[in-house]
Amino acid sequence: MAELSLRWTDNVAGPYYVDEECIDCSLCSEIAPDNFRINEEAGHDYVYKQPATSEEEDLCIEAMESCPVEAIGNDGEG
Ligand code: SF4
Repeated sequence: MAELSLRWTDNVAGPYYVDEECIDCSLCSEIAPDNFRINEEAGHDYVYKQPATSEEEDLCIEAMESCPVEAIGNDGEG
């Protein structure tokens, strides 16, 4: 489970976030491209838009469950 205290600051406010455990594999941005993006300069992915539809929510859950290092959380604020 991701740690809210390790959340990258480039994540948009809201429940979903990527934390510092991310190894930049880009799987989440492939699964849910409407919500996750690669930050190439920083070397990690981040949430640039919170899910707004049930389809997006399903893909975010799939991304969270697929992350190999459990770096995605959905217990963020906002
Ligand atoms: S799936 Fe996990 S490790 Fe891979 S880029 Fe996304 S948050 Fe990072």
